[in-house]
Amino acid sequence: MNIQASRILFEKAKKYIPGGVNSPVRAFKAVGGTPRFIERGHGSKIFDVDRNSYIDYICSWGAIILGHAETCVISAVKDTLSNGTSFGAATALEVELAETIVDAVPGIEQVRLVSSGTEAVMSAIRLARGYTNRNRIIKFEGCYHGHADSMLIKAGSGAATLGMPDSLGIPADIAKYTTVVPYNDIEAVKQVMDTDVAAIIVEPVCGNMGVVLPQKGFLEGLREITTQYNSLLIFDEVITGFRLSYGGAQQIYGVIPDITCLGKIIGGGFPIGAYGGKREIMEYISPLGGVYQAGTLSGNPVAVQAGLVTLKILSAIGVYDFLDGHAVKLVNGIQEAANKASVAITINRIGSMFSVFFTNTAVTNYSTAEQSDSQKYASFFNSMLNNNIYLPPSRLEAWFIGLAHTLENIEQTISAAEEAFKKL
Ligand SMILES: *Cc1c(COP(=O)(O)O)cnc(C)c1O
Repeated sequence: MNIQASRILFEKAKKYIPGGVNSPVRAFKAVGGTPRFIERGHGSKIFDVDRNSYIDYICSWGAIILGHAETCVISAVKDTLSNGTSFGAATALEVELAETIVDAVPGIEQVRLVSSGTEAVMSAIRLARGYTNRNRIIKFEGCYHGHADSMLIKAGSGAATLGMPDSLGIPADIAKYTTVVPYNDIEAVKQVMDTDVAAIIVEPVCGNMGVVLPQKGFLEGLREITTQYNSLLIFDEVITGFRLSYGGAQQIYGVIPDITCLGKIIGGGFPIGAYGGKREIMEYISPLGGVYQAGTLSGNPVAVQAGLVTLKILSAIGVYDFLDGHAVKLVNGIQEAANKASVAITINRIGSMFSVFFTNTAVTNYSTAEQSDSQKYASFFNSMLNNNIYLPPSRLEAWFIGLAHTLENIEQTISAAEEAFKKL
């Protein structure tokens, strides 16, 4: 595979951008090799600057669920663009997106739009602290909630594969208000729970240590214990929102949080985030209440329009069954290919998100995810990449499929996996 143009660009990028990338995991540090510079995308495929094509299983980290350059999104965005790109004033479109989100997500009665998932979580944490008048937050090892100071502690994926579970630059006085416990361990939560806890924040299905599902009773247990202590339960559904179902993970598991964070899919490929919850809590936000939060580009009409069109398409009957069916075919094929080559893998999947771990044990939390074989994943990743299949460049990230992935794509991916497993 010729990747000369990507090589040259990466060298140049490293001169002007730290590490050559604008987000660490893009640098391929965990798997080795040259990051591909992407020129365009169409449907399930992306094309690099050397004109190689790849079936894309990153899908902008889950944000692109309809496929790249989806016609309805692009034409609506073009119309919106021609009317101006930002006003710093209220618009009708943002009201429509807020209404759509409130109608879709069980736990959201009011919602505030922001510009990234990080910003949504950061604001939700401040809201929880302002509402409860408490400081401490409980989070789970391997859950990633964006890069705000209080959340960048044992945060999985990007940070973890770089061997930096914590970041420099986070004052101990801030970190001390974050308590980290293992995912799926309700007993551990009980041990650290107290009346100083403002909120427990969790990815209801974790996508940032690879995909890890909540075990029976885990989310219910969190709901119970937060209620008991008058703390808030925050679901970070930045990945799972509008991906697992139209109402997110909370709809599937029937556990309703006090605050929900959204991002990724709701911007249709543009920068966006949102946090919403019970009206009584949301009314603590400025200008109604004393919790300050603002944004120059919040509710940006272009991002909002892309999100609206995306959600409209996702609201059609059968969309999530279709995604589920395709994902089942793919993971079954991958599992069979691994069996044939006698390679031990564990696949965790729900709906259209899944991970392939090179391990022979169940993966239920960060330590079991972390024990999976990184070298085998790196070698598998590179074989797949050279066979035009673009997987996440870390064993601790989720794979995504979208509505544009075809049965032919799936078959091609399974044959590539057969070869890749044989080479291990
Ligand atoms: C991606 C992600 C975030 C951060 O969103 P950004 O838009 O990258 O800031 C937060 N939480 C979860 C669960 C995510 O997957």
